[in-house]
Amino acid sequence: MSASSGTGAVNYRNGTQRGSLRTQSSNSTSAGQKSSLKSKSVLRKSSPAALGGGSSKGGSGGDAGVPGRVRVAVRLRPRNGEEMIADADFADCVELQPELKRLKLRKNNWDTDTFEFDEVLTEYSSQKRVYEVVAKPVVEGVLDGYNGTIMAYGQTGTGKTYTLGQLGEEDVADRGIMVRAMEDILAEVSLEMDSISVSYLQLYMETVQDLLDPANDNIAIVEDPKSGDVSLPGATLVDIRDQQSFLELLQLGEAHRFAANTKLNTESSRSHAILMVNVRRSLKTRDGLPSESSGNSHMTKTLKPPVVRKGKLVVVDLAGSERINKSGSEGHTLEEAKSINLSLSALGKCINALAENSSHVPFRDSKLTRLLRDSFGGTARTSLVITIGPSPRHRGETTSTIMFGQRAMKVENMVKLKEEFDYKSLSRRLEVQLDNLIEENERQQKAFVDEIERITVEAHNQISEAEKRYANALEEEKLRYQNDYMESIKKLEENWSKNQKKLAAERFALGEKNGLDITSNGNRSIAPVLEEVSELKMLLQKEAQLKMAAEEEVKRLQHQLAEFKKVEVSGNSEIMRLHKMLENETQQKEKLEGEIATLHTQLLQLSLTADETRRNLEKHGSEKNSGALDSFMSQLRLPQIQDPGNAEKQPVARLFEQVGLQRILSLLEAEDADVRIHAVKVVANLAAEEANQQQIVEAGGLTSLLMLLRNTEDETIHRVAAGAIANLAMNETNQELIMDQGGIGLLSSTAANAQDPQTLRMVAGAIANLCGNDKLQTKLRSEGGIAALLGMVRCGHPDVLAQVARGIANFAKCESRASSQGTKRGKSLLIEDGALSWIVQNAKTETSAIRRHIELALCHLAQHEGNAKEMVKEGAMWELVRISRDCSREDIRSLAHRTLTSSPTFLTELRRLRVDIR
Ligand code: ADP
Ligand code: MG
Repeated sequence: MSASSGTGAVNYRNGTQRGSLRTQSSNSTSAGQKSSLKSKSVLRKSSPAALGGGSSKGGSGGDAGVPGRVRVAVRLRPRNGEEMIADADFADCVELQPELKRLKLRKNNWDTDTFEFDEVLTEYSSQKRVYEVVAKPVVEGVLDGYNGTIMAYGQTGTGKTYTLGQLGEEDVADRGIMVRAMEDILAEVSLEMDSISVSYLQLYMETVQDLLDPANDNIAIVEDPKSGDVSLPGATLVDIRDQQSFLELLQLGEAHRFAANTKLNTESSRSHAILMVNVRRSLKTRDGLPSESSGNSHMTKTLKPPVVRKGKLVVVDLAGSERINKSGSEGHTLEEAKSINLSLSALGKCINALAENSSHVPFRDSKLTRLLRDSFGGTARTSLVITIGPSPRHRGETTSTIMFGQRAMKVENMVKLKEEFDYKSLSRRLEVQLDNLIEENERQQKAFVDEIERITVEAHNQISEAEKRYANALEEEKLRYQNDYMESIKKLEENWSKNQKKLAAERFALGEKNGLDITSNGNRSIAPVLEEVSELKMLLQKEAQLKMAAEEEVKRLQHQLAEFKKVEVSGNSEIMRLHKMLENETQQKEKLEGEIATLHTQLLQLSLTADETRRNLEKHGSEKNSGALDSFMSQLRLPQIQDPGNAEKQPVARLFEQVGLQRILSLLEAEDADVRIHAVKVVANLAAEEANQQQIVEAGGLTSLLMLLRNTEDETIHRVAAGAIANLAMNETNQELIMDQGGIGLLSSTAANAQDPQTLRMVAGAIANLCGNDKLQTKLRSEGGIAALLGMVRCGHPDVLAQVARGIANFAKCESRASSQGTKRGKSLLIEDGALSWIVQNAKTETSAIRRHIELALCHLAQHEGNAKEMVKEGAMWELVRISRDCSREDIRSLAHRTLTSSPTFLTELRRLRVDIR
């Protein structure tokens, strides 16, 4: 315990008021502040002798201290993976009661010890919470100018480094105490006024190494004999201005620690890591200190130097506590064990001594205790986290850790505010003020000179102004006199001429009397006046003429204007008329457009309905060879469109009449794909009516439909066109036309490319119709018709298969007719193209439409003796036997029976196998 605080601490330790100093905010930690009193029940060995600050002698600053106690928190690490498995059957060796701040240590199955701590942090406690309860009060103290220490003590692997040093770069929630402390400090200080500097050290084997400069590996610890302050002048000090540089510094330190420990062949758990953060803050104004704004010549008399508060935060990640007990047992040297033990056990001894109020505290015993001298019982606030694991296997270690914490609970310290006067900065400030005054002086001198100059200039201006005014007045006076003079001369001249006239009149009167030539003299003076008068008259006349002309012009223009107005009026009415016409036209157009739109919708509706109807009809099948499309044709009753005026007529037919077939067909080649689709649907609907078919073919519709198969890629068009072709392919003439125009090739390639089963159904329907033509058999087969038909079975859709089966049945029927007429010899082309195996495979299908066609096909094939061998070989004979027995239709049953019994090959075979088919 330092000399400066020893007495105070002793006094309070012996005092009767007991409570814990809960320093949750900076206010409650400031000097002289009352802290809450919390009485505690004393449990077993622990008597948490916490001291309230109520009777503190702490004043504002100076050496006055605030008594406090080392705050001790216990933190339990969650079970790790290994413990989950290894200790699965065992309960944790501790039980925490955080709300009571108690920890129960299981001694054995029937006995537990209970301890009380300042904070009990469970395995679920967040890093933020840990920071707030353990470190924040200390950090706030440091910002207020107190030293502070945060230490973690515990067995290796219990979370000391996690609690203190975790960087939390991957998960911010993981940030440990060091990182969070710096964040708080940076947020609080002003970087212009204050400074933060950091050292990072490792203490190993009683040597202090610089983690920021590995070469610096034996740093001395210096104690100020007066203040008791501990410092390490040899350690690297890094100024911190932002969080990122601090994180980098921690990383660098960690890397160096790793490297150093590798070199020393040891591990970090055997050394102590020490982070020192020095915070230096300037206080702007204090009581009795005038503010800088009142800067004048008096200020230096009352000015006090600015106050600087210095706080040092020391964070110590201690070596694993197990070293104390297991020296030499885990691969390290005795020497190493001794020195590690030395520091930790010295710490323990100091704690014991302080707790027991001993007069001697052996701080000097180890480097660690020397370093922490101002943390324990000194002028600092101290928090200790003891970390423990849950495993019952480490009960002994956990117990000793808890005991260490319990002893530390009793350690009191006298918190001392570290403030000092900063003369350097005072002198700096005075210099600034001096400079300000010099500048001000210069400014005033300049202003004085400027003022003099201004006054001189003003005087000069006034003088010259007065001179000017005088000169002007003089000039005016002169002019006035000159005018007066001229006036008097004039008057004199007038008087003189009056006198002359008078004289002349007198002479004239005398002259009359003498009868002389004075009159002629008088005539001569009137003549020019007369001339002038006549000149004026002429001018007057001219003027009058001009006026008249102008009036004339005005009249003319007025007339013109009236004319224009008339024209304008008639023009306007013309425009109005045209406008009206235009409006009518527009209305008409809109009406027509409306009608077109209606027709469009109706058309679309009709094609859709027609498609559907056809599909339905075909689905319901037919027994005849060309049944589906036949019945579609005959049954297609297109719905009536809602046009009252034309209610009876079928819309497609009406369209047909109105638009004309040629026009509709021409739309099959339209640019617009939609138009093409509509057109082909209309054609397909028309083609479904037998009455229209001839007309369509004659107008070139069949050719156009085949062209569509060739020229478009659109599957809808293919489907509808193929449907139309299938409908047209119902009479012999058209079938031949289709074949002549290469239709079978086009249908085959359409089939090969189609995806939609309905397209395949249409194509198969068309080919199936062609298959029913006796004349086309060879051509159809040679152009790949049968192969195309068989190729479509890949789709597997029953509708398609039904058409394929129908085609095969048609083809077989024609062949059997030919063979009975003697025109066909040899095997069936169907069998040659491999149809038989498909026939046999599908002969038992559940789909009646397929089955019926296949049964017919089998019967037809069987009628030709040339096929018999092959049919026996492929098993088709057995299908015939089955048909002859089970077929639901009597006519087919008897047909099968007849064919079986009329074929020598079948009969032989049946006999050989002893099958009775009677
Ligand atoms: P020590 O420094 O005491 O040897 P560490 O801090 O290295 O222990 O922790 C040992 C392991 O346990 C590390 O993997 C650490 O991440 C994990 N750990 C420690 N404490 C906790 C905790 N409270 N929550 C989750 N994991 C923890
Ligand atoms: Mg560690």
